[in-house]
Amino acid sequence: MTANEIRDSFKKFFESKQHAIVPSAPMVIKDDPTLMFTNAGMNQWKDIILGTRDPEPRRRADTQKCLRVSGKHNDLEEVGHDTYHHTMFEMLGNWSFGDYFKEGAIDMAWEYLVDVLKLNPEDLYVTVFEGAPEENIPRDDEAASYWAKHVPEDHIINGNKHDNFWEMGDTGPCGPCSEIHVDSRTPEQRKASGISGRDLVNKDDPQVIEIWNLVFMQFNRKADGSLEKLSMNVIDTGMGFERLVRMLQGKHSNYDTDIFQPIIKAEEQITGLKYTTFEEEAEASANPGNPGQSGSSGDQEAINVAMRVCADHLRAVSFSIADGQLPSNAKAGYVIRRILRRAVRYAYTFLGQKESFLYKLVPTLVHEMGDAFPELKAQQQLISKVMKEEEDSFLRTLDKGIGLLSDAMDKLKAEGKTELDGVQAFRLFDTYGFPLDLTELICREQGFTVDEQQFDVEMQKQKERARNAAAVENSDWTELQQGEQQFVGYDYTEYECRILRYRKVKQKKAEYYELVLDYTPFYGEMGGQVGDCGVLVNENETVEIIDTKRENNQSIHIVKQLPKDPTAQFMACVDTDKRTASAANHTATHLLDYALKQVLGDHVEQKGSFVSPDTLRFDFSHFQKVTDEELRQVERMVNDMIRQDIPLDEHRDMPFDEAKKLGAIALFGEKYGDKVRVVRFGPSCEFCGGIHASATGKIGFFKIISESSVAAGIRRIEAKTGKECEELLYMTEDMLKAVRSFFNNAKDLQGVIQKYIEEHDTMKKQIEGFQAQKVQQLADNLVQKARTVNGVTVVTGKFEMTAAAAKDLVFKVRELHPESLLCVVGTVYDGKPLLNVMLSDDMVKDHGLNAGQLVREAAKLMQGGGGGQPHFASAGGKNPDGLTAAIDKVVELANL
Ligand code: ATP
Ligand code: MG
Repeated sequence: MTANEIRDSFKKFFESKQHAIVPSAPMVIKDDPTLMFTNAGMNQWKDIILGTRDPEPRRRADTQKCLRVSGKHNDLEEVGHDTYHHTMFEMLGNWSFGDYFKEGAIDMAWEYLVDVLKLNPEDLYVTVFEGAPEENIPRDDEAASYWAKHVPEDHIINGNKHDNFWEMGDTGPCGPCSEIHVDSRTPEQRKASGISGRDLVNKDDPQVIEIWNLVFMQFNRKADGSLEKLSMNVIDTGMGFERLVRMLQGKHSNYDTDIFQPIIKAEEQITGLKYTTFEEEAEASANPGNPGQSGSSGDQEAINVAMRVCADHLRAVSFSIADGQLPSNAKAGYVIRRILRRAVRYAYTFLGQKESFLYKLVPTLVHEMGDAFPELKAQQQLISKVMKEEEDSFLRTLDKGIGLLSDAMDKLKAEGKTELDGVQAFRLFDTYGFPLDLTELICREQGFTVDEQQFDVEMQKQKERARNAAAVENSDWTELQQGEQQFVGYDYTEYECRILRYRKVKQKKAEYYELVLDYTPFYGEMGGQVGDCGVLVNENETVEIIDTKRENNQSIHIVKQLPKDPTAQFMACVDTDKRTASAANHTATHLLDYALKQVLGDHVEQKGSFVSPDTLRFDFSHFQKVTDEELRQVERMVNDMIRQDIPLDEHRDMPFDEAKKLGAIALFGEKYGDKVRVVRFGPSCEFCGGIHASATGKIGFFKIISESSVAAGIRRIEAKTGKECEELLYMTEDMLKAVRSFFNNAKDLQGVIQKYIEEHDTMKKQIEGFQAQKVQQLADNLVQKARTVNGVTVVTGKFEMTAAAAKDLVFKVRELHPESLLCVVGTVYDGKPLLNVMLSDDMVKDHGLNAGQLVREAAKLMQGGGGGQPHFASAGGKNPDGLTAAIDKVVELANL
């Protein structure tokens, strides 16, 4: 079976078991402060598991794009070195929210693997939780009893808390789990080792690996560490797709499957190097003398690792870009940048790729995966462009870092040392992205070592700095009232409410509270639109809400202090001035998106936006600068739509497919439920949960302030609307008035300024003419007054003039007197002295004089320094009073 067929068979199987097959959520998470990337299939169901979202349909299955490169799950350093961990991988999963539990999950997993896919049951081992007496949790005998229906006792293994007890985080849902492991060793390997598969489970053997984890969530862990029963049992399973494909295709490395081989083949073609598959390796080591076979020599192994790294990272970076996360300097963007840089490093060091390389693999990836993930196909051009630019820029940094490193090694050599200190190595890591192993590699080639210990100390220090900066402490929610929050903000800006629950949050030194209300008109920050602020009031008190965030589908209200009586009834009132301004800006953003597509073309994709009361920002894919003319066209189109005063046509809870039919624009990398909200203003129609103006007329006016580039292939437009535009107009008007007043309030301002510039140019030319004349006169004068010392004409003088004029002057003197000349001219301009020395060529050649040396030595008398050529040099200084002495000094030093 091909990989694509296997993916389909999984969906088909669970569909036949009454599961709703749902799309993968984006890999990049945008609205969860606790998680940057999806690292497991269950992430997108967090709110269902926490009870804040409707669990229907209760059976679901999907394949989920996951990335494990940060936080709790970080496999980055393994990737490429082993053959079964990836940064980005697909996790096949099935869920039950309060429907079937352990027995159903175990039976279905078994049926799929053994009856449908025909994996050999003798190769399968399962683990069950051994129990934790200290927490009063017994062994998971229940799961073990269901497994016993399918496998012999000696294929059931007890596992500890680390492997077999799953927790969402420090707090929240958790429970025991059961993993399915496959012994995929070759018969030769089994014979050679003599160890049974059972004894290799969870022992990091690359051929005895976990493929599927079935999690049985039945507890909730509270902040004090204690457990309580969950109100709804949840089944959450995750199976590594790449590992499954490998088992079914009879391979021993994920990279030997049809998921990775086409990419590796493309790498071979570009680099001219060869990758050795598991079989080829085995054969080579069985016949070590085989000519022409490099086998698993050190060099070949390095090439293999590098090719795996590149094939893997290509996927991670491409999928992130398609999800709207570009490499950048902060947060998720920085993680992506680091992945890409890791690949560049490996390609640079081990595959001989000194120029950008990864982007050349994009077409192959899109060809292989573009059908299952259309976002790749749609954004291929952007992905290639961004990747190439990132690679080029990192390769420049790499060159710079290598330069620094060789300077450092030169210095060490001069000092007779052989060890690079850890601070420098860390700086290379931190600023130039040089990991320790690369620095060590380069150093080793030159016979140097690196102080690893000190490097680790620096790394630790930085981690601590980061931890302290990011540390957030949340206390448990204090529940005042049971229930779920209802958002009423699309229809109201004031609403009667009570507090459902609150908690205290400590961040750095600040302390605040988060509130969940039963009814709220407050919009929590989402989709680029900032959160509302406002107040909670009743007859006894007023509490200010300084911001509203969104978490698990709810508005979280931020307040500096709790109300005196948190159980009282309040009126929640949104600051409507700010809300109205934000809403107008959000609507303007939709119109802008529409107009850009009309003017520039359909390739324009939204890549980010920010909407606040005073400004709006819109990032989009476009491959060149937007011209002034195009910007004008866009502005005119948007303003036209504003004047048409098109009313908001809002559809809440529209089935996703119906919305698509309506032509609503969905964003790549956004998560949409089965029911969506569609916002339409005439021809502009988008999926959107934001707050909008009731009609486009409310925007008032729209004006683009700037257009710039944010990354390869991504442009940014900043614009203002309504009142902000009015202010802008006043400012421009005032400035124009002020300028006009400089020109006697001339009517034809442009004409007058033009005339001024022309006059200025003419005068400048005239002055230059006068100056030249004056210099000529001065030169004549100086030469006439010159002394002769031993046959050498000595010309000296001191004037108030610019450096340029002084240079002209000494050259004029030389023209008048091309032989046996020493000319020393001191000038002062703007209170600063300048010493100029000019020699005729024979003075340099025959008398061995050097203007540079003379000027340097003499300039000390005016606290200065300088230099130049042997025949002409000049020096500036700090002390004009020393100028005369400096002039005399030159003559003295010439020793004529
Ligand atoms: P392992 O111990 O092999 O790292 P895990 O315990 O981290 O696995 P889970 O968190 O239980 O794995 O994830 C469920 C499944 O996802 C695993 O059984 C495995 O098949 C797959 N998986 C996990 N991490 C990776 C990865 N980095 N690359 C590819 N597949 C993975
Ligand atoms: Mg793991």
